[in-house]
Amino acid sequence: MGWLNRTVCMGAVAVTGACADPREGPEANARGDEWAAARAAMVRLIRAYGVTNEAVLDAMSRVPRHEFIPPPFRDRSAYGDHPNPIGHGQTISQPYIVAYMTDRLRVGPGAKVLEVGTGSGYQAAVLAALGARVYTIEIVPELAEHARRALHAAGFNHVQVKCGDGYHGWPDEAPFDAIIVTCAPPEVPPTLIEQLRDGGRLVIPVGLSGFAQTLKTLRKAGRELVLEDELPVRFVPMVSDPGAPRPAP
Ligand code: SAH
Repeated sequence: MGWLNRTVCMGAVAVTGACADPREGPEANARGDEWAAARAAMVRLIRAYGVTNEAVLDAMSRVPRHEFIPPPFRDRSAYGDHPNPIGHGQTISQPYIVAYMTDRLRVGPGAKVLEVGTGSGYQAAVLAALGARVYTIEIVPELAEHARRALHAAGFNHVQVKCGDGYHGWPDEAPFDAIIVTCAPPEVPPTLIEQLRDGGRLVIPVGLSGFAQTLKTLRKAGRELVLEDELPVRFVPMVSDPGAPRPAP
């Protein structure tokens, strides 16, 4: 999910050696350095692509992306500018898209942010590294559990992960200063608009899977949604349980 149609996927950043947990022994420490070098190269590429928000770049230079990729899928391409598989038919977004979406949200320390589509937990970690208070919802129980563990292991203990259907949002914690959706619904779900505070931003890919989708940045202004930005993208669909409220066709 999340790769830009018009962006050429750059080759994976060169990291030699097999994948291992960098916390295990001297050899693994050397590999930890390789991960760090790959991460720095990833951030340079994102900057070259035009994201110049220093807070976002700093957050992404501190979050160990490879640790959010489950071990069976973790390899030297963890920091390449493309999506990475995370199991259950899902992917972690291309780093550039993570940077772009995070930048568009315009959140700073203390902001209360809802994410729909936790996946690996990486996007949630980037938001937490920015100092946001993060609430994230994932519909696949195994991924919610994986993300919980990965966030904890990386030290992002305050991120709240809920297993559920994002079409409901998180009513008990609303309103949110910003909402980011990392799977594509056919239309903007009204529940999420209701749960956004006035003046807050919603960054969301909209459109049917297999067709053109548009990543929209919307700002809530009273009863209006102001479109600030859009970009062609391809995301996995936002699915729903049969009982959940669906947007009008
Ligand atoms: N942000 C993630 C990537 C998300 S992939 C990361 O950083 O890794 C999109 C995720 O949305 C998938 O894990 C998928 O299971 C989830 N998803 C799809 N429909 C959903 C829904 N209705 N509610 C919550 N999560 C949903």
